Amino acid sequence: MQIIEIYRSIQGESSFAGIPCTFVRLAGCNLRCDWCDSEYTFTGGKKMSPAEIEAEVKKLSPGGLVEITGGEPMLQEKELVPLMERLLGLGYELLLESSGERPLEHVPNAVHKIVDVKCPDSGEGGTFRTENLAFLRKQDEVKFVLASRKDYDFARQFTREHDLEQRVGGVIFSPAFRKDAAGARDVSNCALDPRDLADWIVADGLNVRLGLQIHKFIWTPETKGV
Ligand code: SF4
Repeated sequence: MQIIEIYRSIQGESSFAGIPCTFVRLAGCNLRCDWCDSEYTFTGGKKMSPAEIEAEVKKLSPGGLVEITGGEPMLQEKELVPLMERLLGLGYELLLESSGERPLEHVPNAVHKIVDVKCPDSGEGGTFRTENLAFLRKQDEVKFVLASRKDYDFARQFTREHDLEQRVGGVIFSPAFRKDAAGARDVSNCALDPRDLADWIVADGLNVRLGLQIHKFIWTPETKGV
């Protein structure tokens, strides 16, 4: 498998936010979101066998939370699915971050899928594969990263149209961070003011979670490997 990095940090953007977690970051992505903060995953990385990845995960943590992320991890589905099954068998709790552009049908049931449905201002709107809705369950979460009111309107419509508040365990509306974010560990780096987002969510009576990428507030926004 092509791996960018395996490291231990704090989970930053889901209902698991704040919990120590081992991250396995896979190389490659088939999308190009305007605000992407992971462009360093698009190429390169190092070849590792599933057994080597498993050994590295075990070295970093004997149990607990492991997040498979990228890039787009499902581009390496053929090797990733058996790896996830092995890690589940070892007792790890697994999170999988995906845009939902690739099929999610074969992701093991026990994995918590965190599906990042792309909004119009990401430049990759419309890439979510609607067939994947059938594979979303209560232990899964759907996330929308929002850069504008237009993105919010899309996320609200998508949430209602597909009954996400009932279908999955959590729906997250999260302000995008500016791509050139640097220095300050505060909301000045958000493309959309979280205060506006909070007002809109409350005014519309949505049962969603306002998510802040807490790693951007703990470390400087440009820090990698956190
Ligand atoms: S899907 Fe994720 S890694 Fe790929 S371009 Fe978008 S934000 Fe970046």
